[in-house]
Amino acid sequence: MKIEKPQGSEKLYQSVRKVWESQRETYAHLRALGVEKFMKESDDMIREAIRPDTKDEDADAGCGDERVGGRIRLAGVGILWTEREVISALTLAGAKGIKSHKGCGAAKIFTEQNGLNPADAEQCAQEHAQKIAHNLNIPYRGHRNVTPERHHIAHIVYVDGTGKWNVSRAPGLLPGFHVSRRFVSASYAAKEVDIYASIASDKLHGFGTLISEKEPILIIVIGDPKASAFSQRRLIAELQPIGKRLRDKRIPVAIDGFTPQFL
Ligand SMILES: [Zn+2]
Repeated sequence: MKIEKPQGSEKLYQSVRKVWESQRETYAHLRALGVEKFMKESDDMIREAIRPDTKDEDADAGCGDERVGGRIRLAGVGILWTEREVISALTLAGAKGIKSHKGCGAAKIFTEQNGLNPADAEQCAQEHAQKIAHNLNIPYRGHRNVTPERHHIAHIVYVDGTGKWNVSRAPGLLPGFHVSRRFVSASYAAKEVDIYASIASDKLHGFGTLISEKEPILIIVIGDPKASAFSQRRLIAELQPIGKRLRDKRIPVAIDGFTPQFL
């Protein structure tokens, strides 16, 4: 089958394709084994991704963009949510600082939804993060660069029911967008999954048409063995409607999950 090239420059496409190929083997292994078994085999990495915070920066809140690290994550640090809910989520999470980042897709969506110039997205992202940091009386840690600068590198969306997941600590695992389900409502989490799946399958900045029924976006739930409201089974069940909505929009997705039993 001939794969249609994502739109955009040839150079950008080659860069996207290179990342895709570099993840392909791990992704195939993950799909073949199923997430539960794969994660069991990767126990050392899982423990590293979930280990307790050792410094204040481990508890910084940031965007759920896969190029931004951390365990407390809201799309654009909550720029698409109400301020009251963002404050409540970050208080619950125990956020100790806030960072924004360059090229934030959520901030761009914010400008589109509010009739602003998309070129103002950088400023909107910073101002929003600064305002939330100010209201929470915690430091704003700045507007960070991300790598690569011009495109996304994930077709995994982690939906974390533990509040402890930080995949950037375990480089052997695939990078992924991050939904901090432990700190946000089910309906808001579904909205974020929708945003990230749309970004991941974006033809200009995501994997575009490289994503297919055979190699879909994989939504990985991390269940909490001790909190029934955030169990793997419950989170997978609540994600089914958004999975269907995405498939209706012709964005192929699969939903799977695991539960770190040592928690
Ligand atoms: Zn972002």
